[in-house]
This record gives sequence, C-alpha cells and structure tokens, in this order.
Amino acid sequence: MPFLNVERLKKVKGERRKVTFTDSLPALLLDDNEFIFVEPAQFALTLTNVGNSAINVEGEVQVALKVPCNRCLQNFVLNLNLPFSETYYEKNQPTHSGQTEEWIAYSGDVINITPEVMTTVIMNLPMRFICSEQCQGLCPVCGVDLNQEQCSCIQQDIDPRLAKLQELMKS
Ligand SMILES: [Zn+2]
Ligand SMILES: [Zn+2]
Repeated sequence: MPFLNVERLKKVKGERRKVTFTDSLPALLLDDNEFIFVEPAQFALTLTNVGNSAINVEGEVQVALKVPCNRCLQNFVLNLNLPFSETYYEKNQPTHSGQTEEWIAYSGDVINITPEVMTTVIMNLPMRFICSEQCQGLCPVCGVDLNQEQCSCIQQDIDPRLAKLQELMKS
C-alpha cells in the first residue's frame, strides 16, 4: 500500500520533493462487487510542505483495474490515469491558516494515502465499462458473444410506427 515518508519534509516550510514509485492497492469494493488491480499502481507525486508540517500531495496515479464489460460481460483491463490532490495536516500541530475541512489528519513520519487513492479511483470510474467501442455485446435472443461468433437469430427491430400499422391492419 502506498505510504509517503515525510520525516524530513515535514520539518521545513516550503520544502518540496518529487517522488515516483509503484505500489499495489487493495481490491476495490463497489456495490458488493470486488474489483482487482492487475498490476501495481504508478505514482508521480509532488510533496510540498505548506507550513506547520502540513503536506500538500499533488500529481498523478495510474491504475489498471480488471472489470467486466457492460455489453459482452467479458473481463478486461481498464487503465485509468487519475489526478491526485490532497493536503494532510499533522494532528498535533496548531491549525494552519489555509486549512479547510477537506484536509486529512496524519501523525508520525509516514502518511498512508491508500484511502484517498481508492476514493480517487471510485470518483473517476466511467459510468459504464465498455471493453472496446467496437464491442458487439451479446445477442439478446440466444446470448452468444457476438464478438466471438455469429448466430442465426433474427434481430427483430421493428419500427414502432410500422408495428402500429400492423396492429391496425389486423383489426
Ligand atoms: Zn465488451
Ligand atoms: Zn442469437
């Protein structure tokens, strides 16, 4: 899990440090479904001491999440490049002048950013998971994966106006 060591950084106001590293993330729980990260997340972050040992963390996180396609139901890897921006304040320090309710408390020399990273992933998930724009999905009649095989089902796509006309002709 991603931890930031701020032992030295927290001592000097205005001090800035860039860090890049990879680290694994726990499975993501969403609506009773568990999604797994297929490879370690990549972090590129800039840490800035904004005073009173408060640390601003800003940069990018790249993750690869295994999800099922909404159309064909096959699992695929969704790559996301996420902006990350949080400020952490030292619990025992006096309140910082620019502090807001969104700041997150830390204590000691290490900040665990895992909860905020997970929230960032959830906030940036697309509304629907689609494996590819060309995904044909499943046949609504027999259920075969139309990306893999063809079926001989007749796709009834009757124009609603025509359907009405047929109704009228019957009566
Ligand atoms: Zn698909
Ligand atoms: Zn079919």
